[in-house]
Amino acid sequence: MIVGERKPFTEIKAMLEGYKKVLILGCGTCVSVCLAGGQKEVSLLASQLRMDAKFRQTGMEIAENTLQRQCDREYIESIVEQARNFDAVLSMACGAGVQLLSDMLIPLPVVPALNTTFLAVADREGTWLERCRGCGDCILADTGGICPVARCAKSLFNGPCGGSKEGKCEVSPETPCAWQLIYDRLSALGQLHKMDIIQPIRDWRTSGSGIPRSIVREDAIGLS
Ligand code: SF4
Ligand code: SF4
Repeated sequence: MIVGERKPFTEIKAMLEGYKKVLILGCGTCVSVCLAGGQKEVSLLASQLRMDAKFRQTGMEIAENTLQRQCDREYIESIVEQARNFDAVLSMACGAGVQLLSDMLIPLPVVPALNTTFLAVADREGTWLERCRGCGDCILADTGGICPVARCAKSLFNGPCGGSKEGKCEVSPETPCAWQLIYDRLSALGQLHKMDIIQPIRDWRTSGSGIPRSIVREDAIGLS
């Protein structure tokens, strides 16, 4: 899932300065699960903004809505007409949702209420951990299912840096060394020989370091 965190209230207020009618739009998928941008968070932020508008007598009107997903055109289409009644939309989706919404609502300004952070797993209630950076060339089969790109502070592909101490990362003593975890996992799987695999020099063009990526499935668009 994609994890996000709400921006500070002062930043949100500054982005909305001058708008009289604002629609706050939540997203009911990833950012809802991580308690950042779902229906409940929309209501909370709407209340805060209404109180602020009353206190400062700005006259700003706030409306609320939450879509199932903001990264999908078919859900956004359902609110295009509603959105035309506002001066701006405050999106509580991840950055992908904000951008699609912005594309579809031109010339209406769309501003982000969240900072999008990482691809995560839910570890326990209220805790999400980064597990993938979408590098586009997954090597988890060689590393016992533990990602050295996301979990090693230096994204090392061929073993530890040498700074690991008592199984912890030298960059953060609180964080397990990814390569210690990989070693332990491969050992448990009876696959320690995989520690000898030399990963070749990485072609980062498949990652976020290259051009903006896209995937086109010909079977899904009826071309095959
Ligand atoms: S190797 Fe790449 S795709 Fe696989 S989990 Fe790590 S970042 Fe994600
Ligand atoms: S101590 Fe381990 S996790 Fe930290 S940077 Fe070195 S190899 Fe990576």
